Amino acid sequence: MKAVVIHEHGDPEVLKEEEYPTPQLGPEDVLVKVKACGVNQADLMIRRGDVRMYPKLPHILGSEISGVVHSVGSAVTQWKGGERVIVYPGFGCGHCEFCVKGHLYSCNTYKYFGTQMQGTYSEFVKAPWYNMVPLPEEVSFVEGAAIPMVMLTSWHMVVDQANVRPGEIVLVHAAGSGIGSASIQIAKLCGATVIATAGSDDKEELARSLGASHFINYRKTDFREEVGKITNKRGVDVVIEHTGEFTWDKSVRSLVKHGRLVVCGATSGHNGYTDIRYVYYKHLNIIGSTLGTIENLKHALQYVAAGRIRTVVDRVYPISEVRKAHEIMEARQNKGKQVLQMWD
Ligand SMILES: [Zn+2]
Repeated sequence: MKAVVIHEHGDPEVLKEEEYPTPQLGPEDVLVKVKACGVNQADLMIRRGDVRMYPKLPHILGSEISGVVHSVGSAVTQWKGGERVIVYPGFGCGHCEFCVKGHLYSCNTYKYFGTQMQGTYSEFVKAPWYNMVPLPEEVSFVEGAAIPMVMLTSWHMVVDQANVRPGEIVLVHAAGSGIGSASIQIAKLCGATVIATAGSDDKEELARSLGASHFINYRKTDFREEVGKITNKRGVDVVIEHTGEFTWDKSVRSLVKHGRLVVCGATSGHNGYTDIRYVYYKHLNIIGSTLGTIENLKHALQYVAAGRIRTVVDRVYPISEVRKAHEIMEARQNKGKQVLQMWD
């Protein structure tokens, strides 16, 4: 099959299209012909080599796809071939204390496409039958490919971890990112008032179109002060954090007493400063989050299919322009997801 492979870490030039062995199916596996593939921050970090869990090289990046079932293993009865699907990207052992509670993402052997295992910048991808999620006709392959990582992660953060309630005020960082654009909509769906931030004014229109009531350019103004003005010095109930070092301290200090900060990433750096006095004096909850369950993904997809929330696809590239997609994301020029269209 064709695939985009890296043999070394570095700039986007290390992404090279070449022939790669097609995955061999086990009895419970399904082989998916990939139609479209989303690009994530993790792809860029692994390509550069700045993630601790270095995969073995050569390596295929990519975590989220839409496609069509191509063939199935001998024990698979649930899928036949030809069905439109998206694929839940994570894999646990299935029997440890975390997996049996449904917390697959906390399994000691948890891995997902493109990290400790080969990814999805390829013509075919295999996964067990139970990782397949039917893609409704009303959702295109391009939209579908923008769902698995972003909607899964955002749904888990906003609904499960932050437990956002109607009437609350939620601060969502980086409105132009995949996580930001999804989290604004999901928080709004939960009945919250959303304050969105971004690093440039041209993202305001997008943020407001997704349901944000307020917009702050965190590069131009002190977002904590702005939050104070908007909330009459009260602070927000919830912060959705994924930018990390650059925003962390002010995010913590933007919370109302008993507020919750949920964090799923740290794209600007991992060493956020925390004044511990704020945490205990204000009874703050700092909550970690990564990915989510297959149920989170199915819930989010239902709302996308019903038109209640939408994937924000910024640009679509043929797979031959994968380097360009990485460059745009690295320069933070994207307003939503970058999606690759795969070989026919
Ligand atoms: Zn497990």
